[in-house]
Amino acid sequence: MIDFHCHIDLYPEPKKIIELSDKFGIYVLSVTTTPKAWTKTNALSKGKNRIRTALGLHPQIAHERLNELALFDLLISETKYVGEVGLDGSPELKQHLPAQLQAFEHILNSSSRTGGKIFSIHSRKAEDLVLDTLARFPDAGVPVLHWFSGTKKQLQRAIDMGCWFSVGPAMLRSMSGKSLVQQMPKDRVLMESDGPFVKISNRAALPTDTELIKKELALIWALTAKETEQILLNSFSTICKLGY
Ligand code: MN
Repeated sequence: MIDFHCHIDLYPEPKKIIELSDKFGIYVLSVTTTPKAWTKTNALSKGKNRIRTALGLHPQIAHERLNELALFDLLISETKYVGEVGLDGSPELKQHLPAQLQAFEHILNSSSRTGGKIFSIHSRKAEDLVLDTLARFPDAGVPVLHWFSGTKKQLQRAIDMGCWFSVGPAMLRSMSGKSLVQQMPKDRVLMESDGPFVKISNRAALPTDTELIKKELALIWALTAKETEQILLNSFSTICKLGY
């Protein structure tokens, strides 16, 4: 299956997560939170052709790491995946929005200059600002909004702008999350664990937990497991081909 947003490098034993994904044939987008982490994280999955490492600068720490944007630019041509990036307008992070925006704009600009990328984007409590910013960089590539938790209206705007979505365990726990998933075009939905940040029954979510997400999606879409899997695999194949 597919885990389009997993922080492999943040588990206590990253190698075990890679072996587990390999054993079950799971395609994983291994997202990073700082440019400094990319080279080492990318090396972890050397020889594993179902794992790709995205270059990221997480909005929750962007204000402390603006000096890593130069490194971001040095590494950007090494990968077609960028994430985790974006904006976070939660009360405790709101004060850093100008710095977050500076980082996000820089990243979108670098991505445009290097032919466009596939993004895994964080947009918590900053959905409109993320969409406004994406709209200013139309050549940046394909945005995948991870763990989208905005309003239905914001979701519709994201859909109209061509965004994709990665759906995780936390979204499927709430009625509001499920109702957002229902509104997403089926052919632009991917799955994510967001482990180890997201927990399932008090343990870190794993790439293998995307099997549970697939079951939930089948229920929401009123399709069989087989039909659901086919849709997800088709979408995954489509977005990979959108690579530059
Ligand atoms: Mn994450």
